[in-house]
Amino acid sequence: MTEMAINWWLSVASSESVKRSKYMGFSVDVVKGAWERAGGRCECTKKHDHTDRCYRKLVWENRGREGRGKWEANSVSGLHKDSVSDCQILCWSCHISGF
Ligand SMILES: [Zn+2]
Ligand SMILES: [Zn+2]
Repeated sequence: MTEMAINWWLSVASSESVKRSKYMGFSVDVVKGAWERAGGRCECTKKHDHTDRCYRKLVWENRGREGRGKWEANSVSGLHKDSVSDCQILCWSCHISGF
């Protein structure tokens, strides 16, 4: 993630309308917290096509979109709880393989 992307995201995330709205099930704060915990890398530990943790490098702006570093926030419980512990950062290939 570039410095510019972080600044862009922070400016968007700090606007009141975004703070109030839900963002793909999770609040922005939850997704941001999970993203920071993940270090901007896939957190998948299911060994479907990789061993240990996937660790694929992701690009913040490409959440749910086409492009390099495409990813999605996965709800561990499936309920999109308002908690960082329920939010798992997954690269697209992990996201679409069995979650
Ligand atoms: Zn992955
Ligand atoms: Zn995976």
